[in-house]
Amino acid sequence: MAKCGYCNSTIIMGGVRAGQLHFCNKKCHQNAHILSATKNVPAEILDRKVDEVWRSNCPKCQGLGPVDVHKVHEVWSALLLTRWTTKAQVSCRSCATKGQLAGVGFSLVFGWWGFPWGLILTPVQITRNIIGISSGPDSSRPSEELRKLVLVNAGSQIIGSQKSATPPPLPSSATPPPLPR
Ligand SMILES: [Zn+2]
Ligand SMILES: [Zn+2]
Repeated sequence: MAKCGYCNSTIIMGGVRAGQLHFCNKKCHQNAHILSATKNVPAEILDRKVDEVWRSNCPKCQGLGPVDVHKVHEVWSALLLTRWTTKAQVSCRSCATKGQLAGVGFSLVFGWWGFPWGLILTPVQITRNIIGISSGPDSSRPSEELRKLVLVNAGSQIIGSQKSATPPPLPSSATPPPLPR
């Protein structure tokens, strides 16, 4: 199975193709693009920024860090329809465990009711949560995922500041032209 060129997760079904690379979805594709904007920023500046975020307090419970990227996996089904999501959550370990346990509970209740994907993906998503709870990112250093997230943030700021230097014209649909009098 293909792996996402941005977040490295395994793509079970679907995904976005861009040249040689596969991405989970448009967001991962876009993030990979934004990431390339940070190529010219010195590594030590980026490292410092990553470290700063990693050492900060948990944005969810305001408790002590380290905070990192944790993943919560969910699935729900309705007959022939099955939807599964993996949400990245930046938080401390204990908030992550809470989110992942909620993901297990949610999937246990809502995941099964679709054929065939609900039956197949419910155990998959539950197992992924359990793996997240029992292993998760290394707490002694920022994970590669957190680094990517911080870099994408920095990249979108760089892109944003480049754009704001020459403001694009407003899309005409946003401001309808005044009616002729
Ligand atoms: Zn991805
Ligand atoms: Zn927390």
